[in-house]
Amino acid sequence: MAWTNYHSHCHYCDGKYAPEKYVESALEQGLAAYGFSSHAPLPFETTWAMKPENLPAYVAEIRALQAKYQGQIQLYCGMEVDYIPGRIGPKSKAILEAKLDYTVGSVHFVEAFPEGKGWEIDGSHQVFLDGLHQIFKGDIQKAVSRYFELTRQMVAQECPDVIGHIDKIKIQDEGGKLFSQQSAWYQQQMKQTLQLIADTGAIIEVNTRGIYKKKTTETYPARWVLEEMHTLDIPVTINSDAHHPEEITLYFSNTAQLLQAIGFRQVHILYNGAWQAVEFDEKGVKV
Ligand SMILES: [Zn+2]
Ligand SMILES: [Zn+2]
Repeated sequence: MAWTNYHSHCHYCDGKYAPEKYVESALEQGLAAYGFSSHAPLPFETTWAMKPENLPAYVAEIRALQAKYQGQIQLYCGMEVDYIPGRIGPKSKAILEAKLDYTVGSVHFVEAFPEGKGWEIDGSHQVFLDGLHQIFKGDIQKAVSRYFELTRQMVAQECPDVIGHIDKIKIQDEGGKLFSQQSAWYQQQMKQTLQLIADTGAIIEVNTRGIYKKKTTETYPARWVLEEMHTLDIPVTINSDAHHPEEITLYFSNTAQLLQAIGFRQVHILYNGAWQAVEFDEKGVKV
C-alpha cells in the first residue's frame, strides 16, 4: 500500500520550495505517484499563480525529474487551472500546448469588482464580504449559486481531469452566519453540479487542505456531498493540495477511512500513464 497525490504546488507558483524537494519528501513517505499542479498562469497579476514566461521551464523541470526518478516514483506534470469564462480554462491554448499529463480545474474567481479586479472567493474573508456587497448586493444565495454555476460551465465546456476543491466557498461561511450547507438552495446547487459531473466521468478530488490549514473541519467536499457522489458513482482521488513537503499526505488515513465508511471501495489514481480505479485502505492505495 502506498499513497499518491496529484494536487501540489511548488516555487513556480505559491509553493515553498523547488519541485525536487517535494519529490524527496514523497520518496521518504513511500508514495507510488506524485503529480505537480502549479497554478497555471493567469491573464493578470496575482501573488500566487505561475508567471506566463516560466511555464516552459516548469514543464521542462518536471519532465527532467520524471526521467531522473524513473523506477523510484512515478511523477506527473499537471496544472491547477482556473476557470474564468473567455479568459482561461483547462482547455485554453497555452494549457493544451503545454501537453500536460492532467489538469485540475478549480474556480477561485467569481465575477469581478466594478473596477475590474477578479473576486477571489478563497482569499480573505474581508475581500469575500467586499465582493459579496459590491458585486452581488449582499445576496449570498446569488453569489454562491454563481460559483456553482461557473463550476458547471467549466465541466460542460472545458472539463478537466480532476475537479478541484468543489465546495471551497464554504470556508467563507463563518459559523453558518452567511449561509448553511443545509439550506435547500445550497444542496440543490451542489446536486445539480454533481449530476453534470457524473455524466462526464470526471474525477472529484477529496482535498484535505482545509483541515490541516484549519479552515474547515472536514474535507473539500463535505461528507454529505461525498455520500451523494457515492450514490452517483462519481470517481474520487485523495489529494492534499500540498504547498509544503510536510503536507503531502496530511489527513490521508482519516480521509480513506471516511470514504470506506461511506461505501467507496476504490479511488482513482494516475498510474502507468492512465487514470484507473484501485482498491485502498487507511494505509494507501493498492498498486
Ligand atoms: Zn485551488
Ligand atoms: Zn491548489
